[in-house]
Amino acid sequence: MEKDCVFCEIIRGVRPADFLYQDDSLVIFKDIHPHAPIHWLVVPRRHIRSINDLSDQDGDIISQMILKAKEVAKDHAIAESGYKLLFNVERGGGQFIFHLHLHLLGGW
Ligand code: AMP
Ligand code: ZN
Repeated sequence: MEKDCVFCEIIRGVRPADFLYQDDSLVIFKDIHPHAPIHWLVVPRRHIRSINDLSDQDGDIISQMILKAKEVAKDHAIAESGYKLLFNVERGGGQFIFHLHLHLLGGW
């Protein structure tokens, strides 16, 4: 847990969020400023700053994030119509919250 990290606060339960899914490794909640009819964030519980900070040992969490995104897209009937999975990496890549997250955008 990182001090002053918005997503760590959400995961700790001290800041509200609209959760769709939670397990021991990751959580999924709705983006507060959606850019699509469906815009969710897939967030590991462990504080990792960005894709740049992944180590060779982090393959599991990345695959869990992508596989769970695929599963919730199917469960919410947006898999067939299509969706985007997006990582913004660091400031130049459009990252504003420095706790790793995968955007799931769809529902068009
Ligand atoms: P990024 O630009 O990749 O860092 O994306 C951060 C995302 O987090 C943005 O789409 C924000 O709208 C979203 N966001 C910021 N604060 C919150 C919050 N408290 N609850 C849910 N989503 C948030
Ligand atoms: Zn954090």
